[in-house]
Amino acid sequence: MFTYFMPTKIYAGENTLQKNADALILGKKAMIVTGKSSGKKSGALGDVLAIFKEKGIESIVYDKIENNPTIETCAAGAAAAREFGADFLIGIGGGSPLDAAKAIAVYAANVPVEGSDFELYDIFKGSFKNKPLPMAAIPTTAGTGSEVTPYSILTLHSIKNKKSFTSPDVFYKCAFLDGRYTVGLPLQIARNTAVDAMSHLMEGFTDKKASPASDYIALEGLRGIGRHLDALRSGTLSKADCLELLWASSLGGIVISQTGTTIVHSMGYPLTYYKEIPHGMANGIILPEYLRRAEEVLPEKVKACLAALGLGSVEEFKAYLAEILPCDVTFDEAEVYEWTETTIAAKNALVCPFAVTREMEFDMYKTVLF
Ligand code: NAP
Ligand code: FE
Repeated sequence: MFTYFMPTKIYAGENTLQKNADALILGKKAMIVTGKSSGKKSGALGDVLAIFKEKGIESIVYDKIENNPTIETCAAGAAAAREFGADFLIGIGGGSPLDAAKAIAVYAANVPVEGSDFELYDIFKGSFKNKPLPMAAIPTTAGTGSEVTPYSILTLHSIKNKKSFTSPDVFYKCAFLDGRYTVGLPLQIARNTAVDAMSHLMEGFTDKKASPASDYIALEGLRGIGRHLDALRSGTLSKADCLELLWASSLGGIVISQTGTTIVHSMGYPLTYYKEIPHGMANGIILPEYLRRAEEVLPEKVKACLAALGLGSVEEFKAYLAEILPCDVTFDEAEVYEWTETTIAAKNALVCPFAVTREMEFDMYKTVLF
């Protein structure tokens, strides 16, 4: 018995935004949510503004979303949206702006309680009184799949960690995938984000919630990334390659929308929070050790997902990741042990294919970090 749900309409291909411009118009007044540079550098912001001008849609740009967005930034964005009277949102950027837009959509429709980030998070715990504003997504990285997930991952400084919320009400109405928006990505960001997509596909394929539908999609996504391992290494991705990677990233999002993620993600969050290691790279540090342990209980599945990437063993995968994810951060053992107090409490541990304990997570950290 399994279920499958993903309500976002995807438009994929070169100039897809221009070709499907009507689909972008989800109301009368829009707020565009983006990062400091991703909207402009990708060209997507200019394209959206040109369409709005032609269609007579009033809009404002909220480009204050930082990497790993905080709840406060989202609440401030919602205040700006309410003041302007926005009735729909466009998210443009990597996972950070795309996730932030989901929180803004909730806060804009449901005035948040004032207070600490912990109190502001409260609204995400139940169902919302008012439906979040409708949203359209334009990803400018190929990694998180946020354009097709019901998740938003936010930074809470009060708990010194990242915390996610989930609601079917924050699925984007539509998403536009165009390799033109990711072809100019700095190589290291392209690599980190591709590894995040691989991680979603592999975690979803091996976790306890995997289903025939999610497995089918996961292998297709891994094959899509596998065709570009060499170009990710050499930095020679074409626009067409980038579209294929965007699609694979969306497939990863579709997979985790069904399965959730595992301890690779929860163990990666402290690496990002305390050491500022980008999200995809953090996953890539943990992933080979996760696969090595998953292989003990699911040898055929681990073999199948590596084969879909075009690789023969966990060791080969580990060597590839070491090559494309250079990381010279140093760690302190006592600090790392502290992290396991939070990571073991995350519900991601429950869906792992093997039993997880705090000591095991500490062992995993020690294996990959020291
Ligand atoms: P990101 O934090 O959105 O962006 C990383 C960097 O890439 C930023 O400096 C950004 O610039 C830059 N950038 C983005 N697009 C660009 C482009 N086309 N050209 C040049 N620079 C560009 O990174 P991400 O890895 O995509 O997203 C990570 C976030 O997503 C994390 O918070 C993670 O927890 C979350 N996530 C969410 C899900 C989900 O299901 N919702 C799944 C996995 C991860 P600017 O900041 O200047 O704009
Ligand atoms: Fe992720």
